Amino acid sequence: MLELANSTIERKASSTGLSTAVHNPGLAETPHVVAPSHTIWENAIDVLRGRFSAQTFELWFTSIRCIGSEEGRLTLVVPNLFIRDWFDNHYLPHVLEEIAKQTGRSHQAIWLIDDRLEWAAVQEPAPAIKATPVEPTQSKERTSCNLIKRYTFDQFVVGPSNQLAEAASRAVVAQPGSKYNPLFIYGGVGLGKTHLLHAIGHAIHAQHPDWKIVYAKTETFLNEYVQWVRSNRIDEFRAKYRRNVDVLLVDDIQELSGKERTQDEFFHTFNALFELGKQIVVTSDRFPHQINDLEERVRSRFQWGLIADIQPPELETRMAILLRKAEQEQVHLPDDVAFFLATHIKSNVRELEGLLLRLAAMASLTQRPMTVEYAKEALQQFFHSSSLLPSIEQVQRNVATFYRLSPEDITGVRRNKDIARARQIAMYLSRKLCKASYPTIGQAFGKDHTTVLVACRKIEQSMPSDAALRHDLFELERRAQ
Ligand code: ADP
Ligand code: MG
Repeated sequence: MLELANSTIERKASSTGLSTAVHNPGLAETPHVVAPSHTIWENAIDVLRGRFSAQTFELWFTSIRCIGSEEGRLTLVVPNLFIRDWFDNHYLPHVLEEIAKQTGRSHQAIWLIDDRLEWAAVQEPAPAIKATPVEPTQSKERTSCNLIKRYTFDQFVVGPSNQLAEAASRAVVAQPGSKYNPLFIYGGVGLGKTHLLHAIGHAIHAQHPDWKIVYAKTETFLNEYVQWVRSNRIDEFRAKYRRNVDVLLVDDIQELSGKERTQDEFFHTFNALFELGKQIVVTSDRFPHQINDLEERVRSRFQWGLIADIQPPELETRMAILLRKAEQEQVHLPDDVAFFLATHIKSNVRELEGLLLRLAAMASLTQRPMTVEYAKEALQQFFHSSSLLPSIEQVQRNVATFYRLSPEDITGVRRNKDIARARQIAMYLSRKLCKASYPTIGQAFGKDHTTVLVACRKIEQSMPSDAALRHDLFELERRAQ
Protein backbone atom coordinates (compact mmCIF):
# COMPACT_ATOMS: atom_id res chain seq x y z
CA MET A 1 0.00 0.00 0.00
CA LEU A 2 1.11 3.49 -0.79
CA GLU A 3 1.15 6.27 1.76
CA LEU A 4 1.97 9.90 1.21
CA ALA A 5 4.67 11.24 3.46
CA ASN A 6 3.14 14.65 4.38
CA SER A 7 3.32 18.28 3.37
CA THR A 8 7.09 18.14 2.94
CA ILE A 9 6.71 15.89 -0.07
CA GLU A 10 8.76 17.27 -2.90
CA ARG A 11 8.25 14.86 -5.68
CA LYS A 12 6.93 11.44 -6.40
CA ALA A 13 9.24 8.70 -7.48
CA SER A 14 6.99 7.42 -10.19
CA SER A 15 9.24 4.53 -11.03
CA THR A 16 8.89 2.96 -7.59
CA GLY A 17 5.34 4.10 -6.90
CA LEU A 18 6.47 5.17 -3.47
CA SER A 19 6.10 8.60 -1.93
CA THR A 20 9.04 10.80 -1.13
CA ALA A 21 10.03 13.69 1.08
CA VAL A 22 13.33 15.44 1.59
CA HIS A 23 15.14 16.28 4.78
CA ASN A 24 18.05 18.65 4.43
CA PRO A 25 20.07 19.36 7.52
CA GLY A 26 21.53 22.47 5.93
CA LEU A 27 25.16 21.40 6.16
CA ALA A 28 27.56 23.16 3.88
CA GLU A 29 28.99 21.17 1.00
CA THR A 30 32.62 20.31 1.49
CA PRO A 31 35.09 18.30 -0.58
CA HIS A 32 34.02 14.73 -0.24
CA VAL A 33 35.28 11.19 -0.08
CA VAL A 34 33.29 8.80 -2.22
CA ALA A 35 32.15 5.76 -0.28
CA PRO A 36 30.41 2.85 -1.91
CA SER A 37 26.65 3.27 -1.97
CA HIS A 38 24.69 2.43 1.19
CA THR A 39 27.71 1.63 3.31
CA ILE A 40 27.70 5.36 3.95
CA TRP A 41 24.52 4.86 5.92
CA GLU A 42 25.63 1.66 7.57
CA ASN A 43 28.98 3.06 8.66
CA ALA A 44 27.28 5.99 10.31
CA ILE A 45 24.68 3.81 11.95
CA ASP A 46 27.35 1.54 13.28
CA VAL A 47 29.02 4.40 15.09
CA LEU A 48 25.71 5.68 16.44
CA ARG A 49 24.79 2.29 17.79
CA GLY A 50 26.92 3.06 20.81
CA ARG A 51 25.06 6.26 21.64
CA PHE A 52 21.65 4.71 22.09
CA SER A 53 20.34 1.77 24.05
CA ALA A 54 19.83 -1.51 22.25
CA GLN A 55 16.07 -1.11 22.60
CA THR A 56 16.02 2.35 21.07
CA PHE A 57 18.29 1.17 18.35
CA GLU A 58 16.21 -1.85 17.56
CA LEU A 59 12.98 0.08 17.65
CA TRP A 60 13.95 2.96 15.41
CA PHE A 61 17.08 2.30 13.44
CA THR A 62 16.34 -1.19 12.26
CA SER A 63 12.99 -0.13 10.79
CA ILE A 64 14.77 2.01 8.25
CA ARG A 65 16.41 0.88 5.08
CA CYS A 66 18.82 2.90 3.02
CA ILE A 67 18.34 1.69 -0.53
CA GLY A 68 20.62 4.07 -2.32
CA SER A 69 22.87 7.09 -2.14
CA GLU A 70 23.55 9.31 -5.05
CA GLU A 71 25.07 12.74 -5.19
CA GLY A 72 24.50 13.52 -1.56
CA ARG A 73 21.02 12.05 -1.47
CA LEU A 74 20.22 9.06 0.66
CA THR A 75 17.10 7.17 -0.20
CA LEU A 76 15.53 5.83 2.96
CA VAL A 77 12.55 3.54 3.20
CA VAL A 78 10.36 3.39 6.30
CA PRO A 79 7.25 1.37 6.99
CA ASN A 80 5.06 4.27 8.11
CA LEU A 81 4.75 7.97 8.76
CA PHE A 82 5.04 7.61 12.47
CA ILE A 83 8.49 6.11 12.31
CA ARG A 84 9.51 8.60 9.63
CA ASP A 85 8.47 11.59 11.73
CA TRP A 86 9.98 10.32 14.91
CA PHE A 87 13.23 9.35 13.27
CA ASP A 88 13.36 12.58 11.32
CA ASN A 89 12.98 14.61 14.49
CA HIS A 90 15.17 12.65 16.82
CA TYR A 91 17.79 10.62 15.06
CA LEU A 92 18.25 11.70 11.48
CA PRO A 93 20.24 14.83 12.35
CA HIS A 94 22.70 12.63 14.28
CA VAL A 95 23.04 10.26 11.36
CA LEU A 96 23.56 13.03 8.84
CA GLU A 97 26.08 14.69 11.08
CA GLU A 98 28.00 11.44 11.41
CA ILE A 99 27.85 10.89 7.66
CA ALA A 100 29.17 14.39 7.07
CA LYS A 101 32.01 13.64 9.46
CA GLN A 102 32.86 10.38 7.74
CA THR A 103 32.50 11.42 4.13
CA GLY A 104 33.26 15.12 4.30
CA ARG A 105 30.06 16.17 2.58
CA SER A 106 26.53 16.95 3.57
CA HIS A 107 23.73 14.61 2.64
CA GLN A 108 20.02 14.90 2.54
CA ALA A 109 17.42 12.23 3.07
CA ILE A 110 14.73 11.26 0.65
CA TRP A 111 12.05 9.27 2.38
CA LEU A 112 10.05 6.53 0.82
CA ILE A 113 7.14 5.23 2.81
CA ASP A 114 6.24 1.69 2.16
CA ASP A 115 4.26 -0.57 4.43
CA ARG A 116 5.55 -3.54 2.51
CA LEU A 117 8.89 -2.97 4.15
CA GLU A 118 8.64 -5.86 6.53
CA TRP A 119 7.73 -8.10 3.63
CA ALA A 120 10.57 -6.75 1.56
CA ALA A 121 12.99 -7.25 4.41
CA VAL A 122 12.33 -10.94 4.65
CA GLN A 123 12.20 -11.43 0.92
CA GLU A 124 15.84 -10.71 0.60
CA PRO A 125 17.44 -14.03 -0.17
CA ALA A 126 19.28 -15.11 2.94
CA PRO A 127 22.68 -16.41 1.91
CA ALA A 128 23.16 -20.04 2.83
CA ILE A 129 26.29 -18.99 4.58
CA LYS A 130 26.69 -15.47 5.73
CA ALA A 131 29.24 -13.60 3.75
CA THR A 132 31.40 -12.12 6.47
CA PRO A 133 30.48 -13.38 9.87
CA VAL A 134 34.10 -14.02 10.68
CA GLU A 135 34.95 -11.17 12.97
CA PRO A 136 32.35 -9.33 14.98
CA THR A 137 31.86 -5.72 14.02
CA GLN A 138 33.42 -3.41 16.52
CA SER A 139 30.82 -0.89 17.41
CA LYS A 140 30.95 1.36 20.42
CA GLU A 141 28.06 -0.38 22.00
CA ARG A 142 30.12 -3.51 22.33
CA THR A 143 33.28 -4.13 24.23
CA SER A 144 36.39 -5.72 22.83
CA CYS A 145 34.98 -9.12 23.82
CA ASN A 146 31.95 -8.33 21.66
CA LEU A 147 29.76 -7.92 24.72
CA ILE A 148 26.88 -5.46 24.79
CA LYS A 149 27.81 -2.77 27.26
CA ARG A 150 24.40 -2.32 28.74
CA TYR A 151 23.99 -5.98 29.68
CA THR A 152 25.62 -5.91 33.09
CA PHE A 153 24.65 -7.29 36.49
CA ASP A 154 23.98 -3.72 37.64
CA GLN A 155 21.30 -3.32 35.03
CA PHE A 156 19.69 -6.64 35.75
CA VAL A 157 16.67 -6.48 38.04
CA VAL A 158 16.51 -9.52 40.28
CA GLY A 159 13.25 -11.08 41.43
CA PRO A 160 12.04 -14.54 42.42
CA SER A 161 11.67 -15.54 38.76
CA ASN A 162 15.30 -15.04 37.87
CA GLN A 163 17.22 -15.09 41.13
CA LEU A 164 18.50 -18.63 40.70
CA ALA A 165 19.96 -17.85 37.30
CA GLU A 166 21.40 -14.58 38.54
CA ALA A 167 22.97 -16.21 41.60
CA ALA A 168 24.39 -19.01 39.49
CA SER A 169 25.84 -16.47 37.09
CA ARG A 170 27.48 -14.59 39.92
CA ALA A 171 28.84 -17.84 41.32
CA VAL A 172 30.45 -18.55 37.98
CA VAL A 173 32.07 -15.13 38.06
CA ALA A 174 33.41 -15.77 41.56
CA GLN A 175 35.03 -19.07 40.55
CA PRO A 176 35.20 -19.49 36.82
CA GLY A 177 35.74 -23.01 35.58
CA SER A 178 35.19 -24.74 38.88
CA LYS A 179 31.89 -25.61 40.48
CA TYR A 180 29.29 -24.65 37.94
CA ASN A 181 30.76 -25.78 34.71
CA PRO A 182 29.06 -25.63 32.35
CA LEU A 183 26.31 -23.26 33.43
CA PHE A 184 23.22 -23.83 31.35
CA ILE A 185 20.74 -20.94 31.55
CA TYR A 186 17.36 -21.63 30.07
CA GLY A 187 14.07 -19.77 29.86
CA GLY A 188 11.50 -18.34 27.48
CA VAL A 189 12.16 -15.68 24.89
CA GLY A 190 12.92 -12.16 26.12
CA LEU A 191 13.47 -13.08 29.76
CA GLY A 192 17.08 -11.98 30.16
CA LYS A 193 19.21 -14.99 29.19
CA THR A 194 21.40 -13.05 26.81
CA HIS A 195 21.62 -10.22 29.32
CA LEU A 196 22.95 -12.56 32.00
CA LEU A 197 25.39 -14.22 29.62
CA HIS A 198 26.89 -10.85 28.74
CA ALA A 199 26.89 -9.83 32.41
CA ILE A 200 29.02 -12.88 33.20
CA GLY A 201 31.42 -11.88 30.44
CA HIS A 202 31.71 -8.30 31.70
CA ALA A 203 32.24 -9.31 35.30
CA ILE A 204 34.90 -11.90 34.50
CA HIS A 205 36.60 -9.45 32.18
CA ALA A 206 36.68 -6.87 34.98
CA GLN A 207 38.42 -9.35 37.27
CA HIS A 208 40.72 -10.86 34.68
CA PRO A 209 41.34 -8.27 31.97
CA ASP A 210 43.90 -10.49 30.25
CA TRP A 211 41.60 -13.49 29.86
CA LYS A 212 40.30 -14.44 26.48
CA ILE A 213 36.53 -14.36 26.69
CA VAL A 214 34.69 -15.56 23.62
CA TYR A 215 31.02 -14.75 23.20
CA ALA A 216 29.17 -16.17 20.23
CA LYS A 217 25.63 -16.72 19.19
CA THR A 218 25.13 -20.30 18.14
CA GLU A 219 24.16 -19.02 14.73
CA THR A 220 27.55 -17.33 14.39
CA PHE A 221 29.32 -20.46 15.56
CA LEU A 222 27.40 -22.44 12.93
CA ASN A 223 28.01 -20.03 10.11
CA GLU A 224 31.66 -19.64 10.85
CA TYR A 225 32.13 -23.36 11.12
CA VAL A 226 30.55 -24.02 7.73
CA GLN A 227 32.37 -21.13 6.14
CA TRP A 228 35.75 -22.06 7.50
CA VAL A 229 35.34 -25.74 6.70
CA ARG A 230 34.45 -24.83 3.14
CA SER A 231 37.47 -22.66 2.76
CA ASN A 232 39.72 -25.22 4.42
CA ARG A 233 40.43 -22.93 7.34
CA ILE A 234 39.17 -25.06 10.18
CA ASP A 235 42.36 -24.31 12.09
CA GLU A 236 41.38 -20.68 12.27
CA PHE A 237 37.98 -21.64 13.57
CA ARG A 238 39.53 -23.81 16.26
CA ALA A 239 42.00 -21.11 17.14
CA LYS A 240 39.17 -18.71 17.74
CA TYR A 241 37.09 -21.02 19.89
CA ARG A 242 39.72 -23.11 21.61
CA ARG A 243 43.19 -21.60 21.64
CA ASN A 244 43.90 -19.75 24.89
CA VAL A 245 40.19 -19.37 25.50
CA ASP A 246 39.39 -18.90 29.19
CA VAL A 247 35.66 -18.41 29.00
CA LEU A 248 33.29 -19.51 26.26
CA LEU A 249 29.81 -17.99 26.23
CA VAL A 250 27.41 -19.44 23.68
CA ASP A 251 23.96 -17.96 23.22
CA ASP A 252 20.85 -19.82 22.03
CA ILE A 253 22.37 -23.27 22.00
CA GLN A 254 18.99 -24.78 21.01
CA GLU A 255 19.94 -23.74 17.50
CA LEU A 256 22.37 -26.64 17.36
CA SER A 257 19.32 -28.82 16.93
CA GLY A 258 19.64 -30.97 13.84
CA LYS A 259 23.08 -29.60 12.87
CA GLU A 260 25.09 -32.75 13.26
CA ARG A 261 28.49 -31.63 12.14
CA THR A 262 28.41 -28.43 14.09
CA GLN A 263 27.29 -30.36 17.16
CA ASP A 264 30.29 -32.56 16.70
CA GLU A 265 32.58 -29.55 16.55
CA PHE A 266 30.89 -28.00 19.55
CA PHE A 267 31.32 -31.26 21.46
CA HIS A 268 35.06 -31.26 20.82
CA THR A 269 35.35 -27.57 21.62
CA PHE A 270 33.49 -28.19 24.84
CA ASN A 271 35.72 -31.10 25.82
CA ALA A 272 38.91 -29.29 24.99
CA LEU A 273 37.98 -26.34 27.18
CA PHE A 274 36.39 -28.34 29.91
CA GLU A 275 39.45 -30.52 30.36
CA LEU A 276 41.54 -27.41 30.82
CA GLY A 277 39.13 -26.16 33.48
CA LYS A 278 37.84 -23.31 31.35
CA GLN A 279 34.39 -21.92 32.04
CA ILE A 280 31.57 -22.56 29.60
CA VAL A 281 28.17 -20.91 29.81
CA VAL A 282 25.36 -21.56 27.39
CA THR A 283 21.81 -20.28 27.10
CA SER A 284 18.83 -21.96 25.57
CA ASP A 285 15.13 -21.33 25.30
CA ARG A 286 14.60 -25.01 26.02
CA PHE A 287 15.67 -27.47 28.67
CA PRO A 288 18.38 -29.83 27.33
CA HIS A 289 15.89 -32.68 27.04
CA GLN A 290 13.51 -30.59 25.02
CA ILE A 291 16.02 -29.72 22.35
CA ASN A 292 15.19 -31.96 19.43
CA ASP A 293 17.85 -33.70 17.45
CA LEU A 294 20.63 -33.03 19.86
CA GLU A 295 23.16 -35.79 20.20
CA GLU A 296 22.98 -37.52 23.54
CA ARG A 297 26.65 -36.92 24.27
CA VAL A 298 26.20 -33.16 23.78
CA ARG A 299 23.03 -33.17 25.84
CA SER A 300 24.71 -35.03 28.65
CA ARG A 301 27.57 -32.52 28.74
CA PHE A 302 25.06 -29.79 29.49
CA GLN A 303 23.97 -31.70 32.54
CA TRP A 304 27.40 -31.97 34.07
CA GLY A 305 27.25 -28.55 35.65
CA LEU A 306 24.32 -26.47 36.75
CA ILE A 307 21.07 -25.89 34.91
CA ALA A 308 19.40 -22.67 36.01
CA ASP A 309 16.08 -21.49 34.67
CA ILE A 310 14.50 -18.07 34.31
CA GLN A 311 10.76 -17.85 34.67
CA PRO A 312 8.53 -15.02 33.45
CA PRO A 313 8.85 -12.17 35.98
CA GLU A 314 6.24 -11.50 38.63
CA LEU A 315 4.35 -8.23 38.72
CA GLU A 316 6.76 -6.54 41.15
CA THR A 317 9.76 -7.50 39.03
CA ARG A 318 8.03 -6.29 35.89
CA MET A 319 7.34 -2.98 37.60
CA ALA A 320 10.93 -2.70 38.78
CA ILE A 321 12.25 -3.46 35.31
CA LEU A 322 10.00 -0.82 33.77
CA LEU A 323 10.98 1.84 36.25
CA ARG A 324 14.67 1.03 35.82
CA LYS A 325 14.29 1.18 32.07
CA ALA A 326 12.42 4.49 32.21
CA GLU A 327 15.19 5.95 34.34
CA GLN A 328 17.82 4.76 31.89
CA GLU A 329 15.99 6.19 28.92
CA GLN A 330 15.11 9.37 30.81
CA VAL A 331 11.42 8.79 30.32
CA HIS A 332 9.05 10.11 32.95
CA LEU A 333 7.00 7.08 33.94
CA PRO A 334 4.45 7.56 36.69
CA ASP A 335 3.99 4.54 38.95
CA ASP A 336 0.39 4.03 37.95
CA VAL A 337 1.33 3.87 34.27
CA ALA A 338 4.12 1.42 35.10
CA PHE A 339 1.60 -0.65 37.00
CA PHE A 340 -0.82 -0.52 34.11
CA LEU A 341 1.82 -1.71 31.64
CA ALA A 342 3.15 -4.36 34.00
CA THR A 343 -0.28 -5.84 34.55
CA HIS A 344 -0.88 -6.15 30.83
CA ILE A 345 2.39 -7.57 29.57
CA LYS A 346 3.22 -10.61 31.58
CA SER A 347 5.51 -12.95 29.86
CA ASN A 348 8.23 -11.08 28.06
CA VAL A 349 10.59 -8.38 29.28
CA ARG A 350 11.63 -7.41 25.78
CA GLU A 351 8.01 -6.71 24.88
CA LEU A 352 7.58 -4.73 28.07
CA GLU A 353 10.57 -2.53 27.29
CA GLY A 354 9.52 -2.07 23.68
CA LEU A 355 6.09 -1.00 24.75
CA LEU A 356 7.43 1.55 27.20
CA LEU A 357 9.59 3.13 24.53
CA ARG A 358 6.80 3.16 22.00
CA LEU A 359 4.46 4.76 24.48
CA ALA A 360 7.02 7.39 25.46
CA ALA A 361 7.68 8.16 21.81
CA MET A 362 4.02 8.50 21.00
CA ALA A 363 3.31 10.64 24.05
CA SER A 364 6.13 12.94 23.15
CA LEU A 365 5.17 13.13 19.51
CA THR A 366 1.56 13.98 20.28
CA GLN A 367 2.59 16.12 23.28
CA ARG A 368 0.29 14.32 25.66
CA PRO A 369 1.13 13.58 29.29
CA MET A 370 1.92 10.01 30.27
CA THR A 371 -1.21 9.00 32.09
CA VAL A 372 -2.99 5.69 32.44
CA GLU A 373 -5.76 7.07 30.26
CA TYR A 374 -3.29 7.92 27.56
CA ALA A 375 -1.53 4.58 27.90
CA LYS A 376 -4.85 2.79 27.57
CA GLU A 377 -5.81 4.73 24.50
CA ALA A 378 -2.44 4.53 22.81
CA LEU A 379 -1.91 0.90 23.49
CA GLN A 380 -5.47 -0.26 23.02
CA GLN A 381 -4.70 -1.72 19.68
CA PHE A 382 -1.75 -3.58 21.01
CA PHE A 383 -3.55 -5.05 23.98
CA HIS A 384 -6.59 -5.80 21.93
CA SER A 385 -4.68 -7.69 19.35
CA SER A 386 -2.22 -9.44 21.62
CA SER A 387 -4.85 -10.61 24.07
CA LEU A 388 -7.19 -11.91 21.41
CA LEU A 389 -4.73 -13.51 19.10
CA PRO A 390 -3.75 -17.11 19.67
CA SER A 391 -0.11 -17.76 20.49
CA ILE A 392 2.17 -19.55 18.05
CA GLU A 393 2.43 -22.41 20.56
CA GLN A 394 -1.36 -22.74 20.54
CA VAL A 395 -1.36 -22.88 16.77
CA GLN A 396 1.38 -25.52 16.83
CA ARG A 397 -0.58 -27.59 19.34
CA ASN A 398 -3.84 -27.27 17.38
CA VAL A 399 -2.23 -28.29 14.13
CA ALA A 400 -0.49 -31.22 15.83
CA THR A 401 -3.75 -32.44 17.39
CA PHE A 402 -5.63 -31.98 14.14
CA TYR A 403 -3.17 -34.14 12.22
CA ARG A 404 -2.60 -36.55 15.14
CA LEU A 405 1.00 -35.60 15.49
CA SER A 406 2.98 -34.56 18.53
CA PRO A 407 3.91 -30.89 19.02
CA GLU A 408 7.56 -32.01 18.71
CA ASP A 409 6.82 -33.22 15.19
CA ILE A 410 5.65 -29.75 14.31
CA THR A 411 8.71 -28.01 15.71
CA GLY A 412 11.18 -30.74 14.79
CA VAL A 413 13.12 -31.41 11.62
CA ARG A 414 11.67 -34.70 10.39
CA ARG A 415 11.12 -34.58 6.68
CA ASN A 416 8.29 -37.07 6.39
CA LYS A 417 5.92 -35.58 3.82
CA ASP A 418 2.83 -35.37 6.06
CA ILE A 419 4.79 -33.87 8.93
CA ALA A 420 6.48 -31.35 6.68
CA ARG A 421 3.10 -30.30 5.29
CA ALA A 422 1.58 -29.96 8.77
CA ARG A 423 4.57 -27.86 9.76
CA GLN A 424 4.06 -25.57 6.79
CA ILE A 425 0.40 -25.22 7.64
CA ALA A 426 1.30 -24.34 11.23
CA MET A 427 3.72 -21.69 9.98
CA TYR A 428 1.13 -20.28 7.60
CA LEU A 429 -1.48 -20.11 10.37
CA SER A 430 0.99 -18.55 12.79
CA ARG A 431 1.43 -15.77 10.29
CA LYS A 432 -2.24 -15.42 9.55
CA LEU A 433 -3.77 -15.87 13.01
CA CYS A 434 -1.04 -14.69 15.37
CA LYS A 435 0.09 -11.86 13.09
CA ALA A 436 3.63 -12.77 14.03
CA SER A 437 6.64 -11.69 11.99
CA TYR A 438 8.57 -14.24 9.98
CA PRO A 439 11.61 -14.11 12.29
CA THR A 440 9.38 -14.62 15.36
CA ILE A 441 7.67 -17.58 13.76
CA GLY A 442 11.04 -18.91 12.69
CA GLN A 443 12.26 -18.76 16.25
CA ALA A 444 9.20 -20.64 17.54
CA PHE A 445 9.81 -23.39 14.99
CA GLY A 446 13.58 -23.46 15.32
CA LYS A 447 13.92 -22.41 11.67
CA ASP A 448 15.12 -19.30 9.95
CA HIS A 449 12.73 -16.72 8.57
CA THR A 450 13.22 -17.68 4.93
CA THR A 451 11.98 -21.21 5.67
CA VAL A 452 8.82 -19.70 7.14
CA LEU A 453 8.42 -17.40 4.17
CA VAL A 454 8.77 -20.28 1.73
CA ALA A 455 6.28 -22.37 3.74
CA CYS A 456 3.70 -19.58 3.75
CA ARG A 457 4.07 -19.04 0.03
CA LYS A 458 3.76 -22.74 -0.66
CA ILE A 459 0.50 -22.98 1.25
CA GLU A 460 -0.86 -19.88 -0.44
CA GLN A 461 0.05 -21.24 -3.85
CA SER A 462 -1.43 -24.67 -3.18
CA MET A 463 -4.73 -23.40 -1.89
CA PRO A 464 -6.50 -22.64 -5.17
CA SER A 465 -5.99 -26.17 -6.48
CA ASP A 466 -6.14 -28.14 -3.24
CA ALA A 467 -9.63 -28.50 -1.81
CA ALA A 468 -8.51 -30.74 1.06
CA LEU A 469 -6.02 -28.14 2.16
CA ARG A 470 -8.65 -25.42 2.02
CA HIS A 471 -10.94 -27.56 4.12
CA ASP A 472 -8.23 -28.22 6.72
CA LEU A 473 -7.34 -24.56 6.94
CA PHE A 474 -10.95 -23.59 7.30
CA GLU A 475 -11.41 -26.09 10.12
CA LEU A 476 -8.18 -25.08 11.86
CA GLU A 477 -9.06 -21.42 11.68
CA ARG A 478 -12.52 -22.10 13.02
CA ARG A 479 -11.04 -23.97 15.97
CA ALA A 480 -8.70 -21.09 16.69
CA GLN A 481 -11.60 -18.63 17.19
P1 ADP B 1 16.53 -13.53 26.07
O1 ADP B 1 17.95 -13.71 25.70
O2 ADP B 1 16.10 -14.37 27.24
O3 ADP B 1 15.59 -13.70 24.91
P2 ADP B 1 17.35 -10.83 26.61
O4 ADP B 1 18.46 -11.11 27.53
O5 ADP B 1 17.68 -10.45 25.23
O6 ADP B 1 16.31 -12.05 26.58
O7 ADP B 1 16.40 -9.72 27.28
C1 ADP B 1 15.47 -8.96 26.56
C2 ADP B 1 15.48 -7.54 27.07
O8 ADP B 1 14.94 -7.50 28.36
C3 ADP B 1 16.87 -6.97 27.15
O9 ADP B 1 16.83 -5.61 26.79
C4 ADP B 1 17.23 -7.12 28.62
O10 ADP B 1 18.13 -6.12 29.04
C5 ADP B 1 15.89 -6.95 29.28
N1 ADP B 1 15.76 -7.71 30.52
C6 ADP B 1 15.39 -9.00 30.66
N2 ADP B 1 15.36 -9.35 31.95
C7 ADP B 1 15.74 -8.27 32.64
C8 ADP B 1 15.92 -7.99 34.03
N3 ADP B 1 15.69 -8.92 34.97
N4 ADP B 1 16.31 -6.76 34.37
C9 ADP B 1 16.53 -5.80 33.45
N5 ADP B 1 16.38 -5.98 32.13
C10 ADP B 1 15.99 -7.20 31.73
MG1 MG C 1 18.75 -14.11 23.81
